[in-house]
Amino acid sequence: MASLRSTFPGLAALALAGCAELKMAPVEEYPVTAQRVILISIDGARADALPHLSTVSSLIGRAVWTDAMQTVLPALTLPAHLSMLSGRDVTQYGITQNEMDAGIAAVMRLNGMTPMFEWARVADLRSAAVAGMSLIPAAQRAEAQAFFGVDTLVATDGDAPALASAAIALLRADTSVRMMFIHFPDADFAGHTYGWIGSDGAHTSAYRAALARVDSAIAALWSEIGSSVDAGHTALIVTADHGGGHGDGCNTGEAPTHTHCTAHAGDHLVPFVLVAKNATAARLTGDVTITQVAPTVGALLGLPLPERVARPVELGGVQ
Ligand SMILES: [Zn+2]
Repeated sequence: MASLRSTFPGLAALALAGCAELKMAPVEEYPVTAQRVILISIDGARADALPHLSTVSSLIGRAVWTDAMQTVLPALTLPAHLSMLSGRDVTQYGITQNEMDAGIAAVMRLNGMTPMFEWARVADLRSAAVAGMSLIPAAQRAEAQAFFGVDTLVATDGDAPALASAAIALLRADTSVRMMFIHFPDADFAGHTYGWIGSDGAHTSAYRAALARVDSAIAALWSEIGSSVDAGHTALIVTADHGGGHGDGCNTGEAPTHTHCTAHAGDHLVPFVLVAKNATAARLTGDVTITQVAPTVGALLGLPLPERVARPVELGGVQ
Protein backbone atom coordinates (compact mmCIF):
# COMPACT_ATOMS: atom_id res chain seq x y z
CA MET A 1 0.00 0.00 0.00
CA ALA A 2 1.04 3.43 -0.40
CA SER A 3 2.24 5.52 1.81
CA LEU A 4 1.56 9.03 1.73
CA ARG A 5 0.80 8.23 5.37
CA SER A 6 2.80 10.21 7.93
CA THR A 7 4.84 11.75 5.22
CA PHE A 8 2.94 14.84 4.28
CA PRO A 9 4.24 17.39 6.75
CA GLY A 10 7.27 17.92 4.57
CA LEU A 11 5.01 18.82 1.73
CA ALA A 12 3.98 21.98 3.46
CA ALA A 13 7.31 23.32 2.25
CA LEU A 14 6.21 22.82 -1.31
CA ALA A 15 2.87 24.45 -0.71
CA LEU A 16 4.55 27.44 0.89
CA ALA A 17 7.00 27.69 -1.96
CA GLY A 18 4.08 28.05 -4.30
CA CYS A 19 3.49 26.28 -7.55
CA ALA A 20 6.27 26.04 -10.01
CA GLU A 21 5.56 28.20 -12.97
CA LEU A 22 3.78 25.94 -15.38
CA LYS A 23 5.12 26.06 -18.91
CA MET A 24 2.31 24.90 -21.13
CA ALA A 25 2.66 23.52 -24.63
CA PRO A 26 0.24 24.74 -27.29
CA VAL A 27 -3.06 22.83 -27.18
CA GLU A 28 -3.12 20.05 -29.74
CA GLU A 29 -6.36 18.92 -31.21
CA TYR A 30 -7.68 15.68 -29.70
CA PRO A 31 -10.37 13.70 -31.51
CA VAL A 32 -12.63 13.34 -28.49
CA THR A 33 -13.59 15.80 -25.80
CA ALA A 34 -15.64 15.66 -22.62
CA GLN A 35 -16.94 18.18 -20.13
CA ARG A 36 -16.00 15.96 -17.22
CA VAL A 37 -13.43 13.19 -16.83
CA ILE A 38 -13.44 10.64 -14.02
CA LEU A 39 -10.21 8.71 -13.48
CA ILE A 40 -10.31 5.58 -11.33
CA SER A 41 -7.16 3.91 -10.01
CA ILE A 42 -7.63 0.37 -8.72
CA ASP A 43 -4.58 0.01 -6.53
CA GLY A 44 -2.84 -3.29 -7.23
CA ALA A 45 -4.96 -4.36 -10.21
CA ARG A 46 -2.87 -6.61 -12.43
CA ALA A 47 -3.53 -6.47 -16.16
CA ASP A 48 -4.88 -10.03 -15.99
CA ALA A 49 -7.39 -8.90 -13.35
CA LEU A 50 -9.42 -7.20 -16.07
CA PRO A 51 -11.60 -10.25 -16.93
CA HIS A 52 -12.47 -10.44 -13.23
CA LEU A 53 -13.79 -6.90 -13.13
CA SER A 54 -17.13 -7.65 -14.73
CA THR A 55 -18.46 -4.10 -14.98
CA VAL A 56 -15.22 -2.78 -16.41
CA SER A 57 -14.98 -5.75 -18.81
CA SER A 58 -18.52 -5.14 -20.00
CA LEU A 59 -17.42 -1.68 -21.18
CA ILE A 60 -14.54 -2.96 -23.30
CA GLY A 61 -16.70 -3.36 -26.39
CA ARG A 62 -17.12 0.41 -26.45
CA ALA A 63 -13.73 1.35 -25.00
CA VAL A 64 -10.24 2.33 -25.98
CA TRP A 65 -8.34 -0.14 -23.88
CA THR A 66 -5.34 -2.32 -23.22
CA ASP A 67 -4.39 -5.00 -20.76
CA ALA A 68 -0.74 -4.17 -21.19
CA MET A 69 -0.19 -0.64 -19.95
CA GLN A 70 3.27 -0.40 -18.43
CA THR A 71 3.70 1.22 -15.08
CA VAL A 72 7.00 2.65 -13.86
CA LEU A 73 9.86 0.71 -12.28
CA PRO A 74 9.99 0.03 -9.44
CA ALA A 75 6.29 -0.80 -9.67
CA LEU A 76 5.26 0.91 -6.43
CA THR A 77 2.20 2.89 -5.44
CA LEU A 78 3.75 6.28 -4.87
CA PRO A 79 6.02 6.61 -7.93
CA ALA A 80 3.30 5.03 -10.06
CA HIS A 81 0.58 7.42 -8.92
CA LEU A 82 2.87 10.44 -9.17
CA SER A 83 3.68 9.36 -12.74
CA MET A 84 0.05 8.58 -13.57
CA LEU A 85 -1.09 11.97 -12.31
CA SER A 86 1.80 14.09 -13.64
CA GLY A 87 2.39 12.58 -17.08
CA ARG A 88 6.09 12.20 -16.30
CA ASP A 89 8.09 9.16 -15.20
CA VAL A 90 9.17 10.34 -11.79
CA THR A 91 11.55 7.38 -11.38
CA GLN A 92 13.78 9.01 -14.00
CA TYR A 93 14.40 11.73 -11.42
CA GLY A 94 15.28 9.35 -8.61
CA ILE A 95 11.79 9.21 -7.11
CA THR A 96 11.71 5.49 -6.50
CA GLN A 97 10.70 5.11 -2.86
CA ASN A 98 7.19 4.61 -1.62
CA GLU A 99 7.27 7.27 1.07
CA MET A 100 6.38 10.85 0.30
CA ASP A 101 8.72 13.48 1.67
CA ALA A 102 9.79 17.03 1.05
CA GLY A 103 12.62 15.83 -1.19
CA ILE A 104 10.17 14.31 -3.64
CA ALA A 105 8.10 17.46 -3.67
CA ALA A 106 11.20 19.53 -4.33
CA VAL A 107 12.44 17.25 -7.13
CA MET A 108 9.05 17.40 -8.79
CA ARG A 109 8.86 21.16 -8.51
CA LEU A 110 12.39 21.74 -9.77
CA ASN A 111 11.76 19.54 -12.79
CA GLY A 112 8.43 21.09 -13.66
CA MET A 113 6.43 17.97 -12.80
CA THR A 114 2.93 18.89 -11.71
CA PRO A 115 -0.18 16.88 -10.86
CA MET A 116 -2.96 17.15 -13.46
CA PHE A 117 -5.17 18.92 -10.92
CA GLU A 118 -2.87 21.92 -11.30
CA TRP A 119 -3.47 21.89 -15.04
CA ALA A 120 -7.19 22.08 -14.35
CA ARG A 121 -6.67 24.90 -11.89
CA VAL A 122 -4.70 26.93 -14.43
CA ALA A 123 -7.68 26.57 -16.78
CA ASP A 124 -10.19 27.41 -14.02
CA LEU A 125 -11.72 23.94 -14.01
CA ARG A 126 -12.72 22.43 -10.68
CA SER A 127 -11.12 19.17 -9.64
CA ALA A 128 -11.76 16.63 -6.92
CA ALA A 129 -10.15 13.52 -5.51
CA VAL A 130 -11.59 10.76 -3.36
CA ALA A 131 -9.23 8.51 -1.45
CA GLY A 132 -9.17 6.28 1.59
CA MET A 133 -7.79 7.48 4.90
CA SER A 134 -5.12 4.83 4.51
CA LEU A 135 -3.80 6.84 1.59
CA ILE A 136 -4.45 10.27 3.00
CA PRO A 137 -5.03 10.43 6.77
CA ALA A 138 -7.29 13.21 8.02
CA ALA A 139 -4.44 15.01 9.75
CA GLN A 140 -2.58 15.37 6.47
CA ARG A 141 -5.47 16.22 4.24
CA ALA A 142 -4.65 19.91 3.95
CA GLU A 143 -1.04 19.24 2.97
CA ALA A 144 -2.11 16.58 0.48
CA GLN A 145 -4.65 18.92 -1.02
CA ALA A 146 -2.03 21.64 -1.42
CA PHE A 147 0.52 19.25 -2.90
CA PHE A 148 -1.86 17.84 -5.49
CA GLY A 149 -3.47 21.21 -6.19
CA VAL A 150 -6.89 19.62 -6.02
CA ASP A 151 -9.90 21.80 -5.19
CA THR A 152 -11.84 19.22 -3.18
CA LEU A 153 -10.26 16.27 -1.42
CA VAL A 154 -12.47 13.71 0.25
CA ALA A 155 -10.59 11.26 2.44
CA THR A 156 -12.97 8.69 3.81
CA ASP A 157 -12.43 5.83 6.18
CA GLY A 158 -13.69 2.91 4.20
CA ASP A 159 -13.38 0.44 1.41
CA ALA A 160 -14.55 0.60 -2.19
CA PRO A 161 -18.31 0.88 -1.51
CA ALA A 162 -17.77 3.76 0.91
CA LEU A 163 -15.40 5.50 -1.49
CA ALA A 164 -17.84 5.12 -4.38
CA SER A 165 -20.65 6.53 -2.24
CA ALA A 166 -18.47 9.48 -1.32
CA ALA A 167 -17.61 10.07 -4.97
CA ILE A 168 -21.26 9.91 -5.99
CA ALA A 169 -22.27 12.28 -3.20
CA LEU A 170 -19.60 14.70 -4.32
CA LEU A 171 -20.66 14.54 -7.97
CA ARG A 172 -24.24 15.29 -6.93
CA ALA A 173 -23.25 18.08 -4.57
CA ASP A 174 -20.90 19.84 -6.96
CA THR A 175 -21.82 19.51 -10.60
CA SER A 176 -19.06 21.95 -11.51
CA VAL A 177 -16.36 19.32 -10.88
CA ARG A 178 -14.73 18.65 -14.25
CA MET A 179 -11.87 16.36 -13.20
CA MET A 180 -12.23 13.66 -10.58
CA PHE A 181 -9.76 11.06 -9.35
CA ILE A 182 -10.94 8.07 -7.33
CA HIS A 183 -8.55 5.63 -5.68
CA PHE A 184 -9.72 2.17 -4.56
CA PRO A 185 -7.24 0.47 -2.20
CA ASP A 186 -9.04 -2.85 -1.65
CA ALA A 187 -7.22 -5.08 -4.14
CA ASP A 188 -3.79 -3.94 -2.97
CA PHE A 189 -4.72 -4.62 0.65
CA ALA A 190 -5.91 -8.10 -0.28
CA GLY A 191 -2.74 -8.76 -2.24
CA HIS A 192 -0.44 -7.74 0.59
CA THR A 193 -2.48 -9.70 3.14
CA TYR A 194 -3.42 -12.86 1.25
CA GLY A 195 -1.22 -12.75 -1.86
CA TRP A 196 -1.99 -11.64 -5.40
CA ILE A 197 -1.31 -15.20 -6.47
CA GLY A 198 -1.02 -18.52 -4.72
CA SER A 199 1.68 -21.13 -5.07
CA ASP A 200 -0.16 -22.38 -8.16
CA GLY A 201 0.37 -18.99 -9.83
CA ALA A 202 -3.37 -18.25 -9.97
CA HIS A 203 -5.03 -15.24 -8.32
CA THR A 204 -5.94 -15.96 -4.71
CA SER A 205 -9.63 -16.08 -3.86
CA ALA A 206 -9.17 -13.11 -1.52
CA TYR A 207 -7.67 -11.05 -4.34
CA ARG A 208 -10.54 -12.01 -6.64
CA ALA A 209 -13.03 -11.10 -3.92
CA ALA A 210 -11.44 -7.68 -3.51
CA LEU A 211 -11.56 -7.13 -7.26
CA ALA A 212 -15.26 -8.03 -7.20
CA ARG A 213 -15.88 -5.56 -4.38
CA VAL A 214 -14.13 -2.80 -6.31
CA ASP A 215 -16.01 -3.73 -9.45
CA SER A 216 -19.34 -3.45 -7.58
CA ALA A 217 -18.33 0.00 -6.46
CA ILE A 218 -17.52 0.91 -10.07
CA ALA A 219 -20.93 -0.47 -11.07
CA ALA A 220 -22.58 1.89 -8.57
CA LEU A 221 -20.59 4.75 -10.01
CA TRP A 222 -21.49 3.71 -13.54
CA SER A 223 -25.21 3.77 -12.65
CA GLU A 224 -24.66 7.36 -11.63
CA ILE A 225 -22.66 8.53 -14.65
CA GLY A 226 -23.52 6.10 -17.46
CA SER A 227 -26.20 8.29 -19.00
CA SER A 228 -23.83 11.24 -18.88
CA VAL A 229 -21.18 9.16 -20.66
CA ASP A 230 -23.76 8.13 -23.26
CA ALA A 231 -24.61 11.79 -23.76
CA GLY A 232 -20.96 12.64 -24.37
CA HIS A 233 -20.69 14.80 -21.28
CA THR A 234 -18.54 12.52 -19.12
CA ALA A 235 -15.58 10.31 -19.99
CA LEU A 236 -14.43 7.49 -17.70
CA ILE A 237 -10.97 5.99 -17.38
CA VAL A 238 -10.24 2.93 -15.24
CA THR A 239 -6.62 1.98 -14.68
CA ALA A 240 -4.21 0.94 -11.92
CA ASP A 241 -0.87 1.87 -10.42
CA HIS A 242 0.75 -1.57 -10.44
CA GLY A 243 -0.02 -5.27 -10.21
CA GLY A 244 1.54 -7.70 -7.79
CA GLY A 245 2.54 -11.22 -6.93
CA HIS A 246 6.04 -11.24 -8.39
CA GLY A 247 7.96 -9.14 -5.92
CA ASP A 248 11.18 -11.11 -5.94
CA GLY A 249 13.91 -8.99 -4.39
CA CYS A 250 11.63 -6.12 -3.43
CA ASN A 251 12.94 -6.21 0.14
CA THR A 252 9.65 -5.42 1.81
CA GLY A 253 9.82 -8.37 4.16
CA GLU A 254 6.89 -9.95 2.36
CA ALA A 255 6.74 -13.10 0.26
CA PRO A 256 7.10 -12.31 -3.47
CA THR A 257 3.48 -13.39 -3.98
CA HIS A 258 2.41 -10.76 -1.43
CA THR A 259 4.16 -7.71 -2.84
CA HIS A 260 5.24 -5.96 -6.03
CA CYS A 261 7.95 -3.77 -7.57
CA THR A 262 9.47 -5.79 -10.43
CA ALA A 263 9.42 -5.76 -14.23
CA HIS A 264 7.58 -9.10 -14.28
CA ALA A 265 4.33 -8.69 -16.19
CA GLY A 266 2.33 -9.55 -13.05
CA ASP A 267 3.72 -6.49 -11.28
CA HIS A 268 4.44 -4.23 -14.24
CA LEU A 269 1.37 -4.40 -16.47
CA VAL A 270 -1.97 -2.82 -15.61
CA PRO A 271 -5.30 -2.37 -17.36
CA PHE A 272 -6.39 0.86 -19.02
CA VAL A 273 -9.99 1.29 -20.14
CA LEU A 274 -11.29 4.60 -21.50
CA VAL A 275 -14.96 5.06 -22.28
CA ALA A 276 -16.12 8.20 -24.02
CA LYS A 277 -18.85 8.86 -26.52
CA ASN A 278 -17.33 9.33 -29.96
CA ALA A 279 -14.12 7.53 -29.07
CA THR A 280 -13.78 4.72 -31.58
CA ALA A 281 -13.59 1.44 -29.70
CA ALA A 282 -10.13 -0.03 -30.12
CA ARG A 283 -7.48 -2.02 -28.39
CA LEU A 284 -4.35 0.06 -27.93
CA THR A 285 -1.25 -1.49 -29.43
CA GLY A 286 2.44 -0.83 -29.04
CA ASP A 287 3.95 0.62 -25.91
CA VAL A 288 1.36 2.28 -23.73
CA THR A 289 2.60 3.72 -20.45
CA ILE A 290 1.12 5.02 -17.24
CA THR A 291 2.57 8.47 -17.93
CA GLN A 292 0.00 8.82 -20.72
CA VAL A 293 -2.93 8.76 -18.29
CA ALA A 294 -2.92 12.37 -17.05
CA PRO A 295 -2.19 13.80 -20.52
CA THR A 296 -5.16 11.80 -21.80
CA VAL A 297 -7.38 13.26 -19.07
CA GLY A 298 -6.12 16.73 -19.93
CA ALA A 299 -6.55 16.26 -23.67
CA LEU A 300 -10.13 15.03 -23.22
CA LEU A 301 -10.87 18.22 -21.28
CA GLY A 302 -9.14 20.34 -23.93
CA LEU A 303 -6.60 21.61 -21.40
CA PRO A 304 -3.19 22.98 -22.27
CA LEU A 305 -0.68 20.35 -21.15
CA PRO A 306 2.69 21.14 -19.58
CA GLU A 307 5.75 20.78 -21.73
CA ARG A 308 7.53 17.43 -21.50
CA VAL A 309 4.55 15.31 -20.47
CA ALA A 310 3.90 12.03 -22.28
CA ARG A 311 1.55 11.88 -25.24
CA PRO A 312 -2.14 11.28 -24.63
CA VAL A 313 -3.15 7.79 -25.77
CA GLU A 314 -3.93 7.64 -29.46
CA LEU A 315 -7.59 7.33 -30.16
CA GLY A 316 -9.88 7.83 -33.07
CA GLY A 317 -13.03 9.89 -33.03
CA VAL A 318 -16.33 8.83 -34.55
CA GLN A 319 -17.21 11.31 -37.23
ZN1 LIG B 1 1.01 -2.29 -2.64
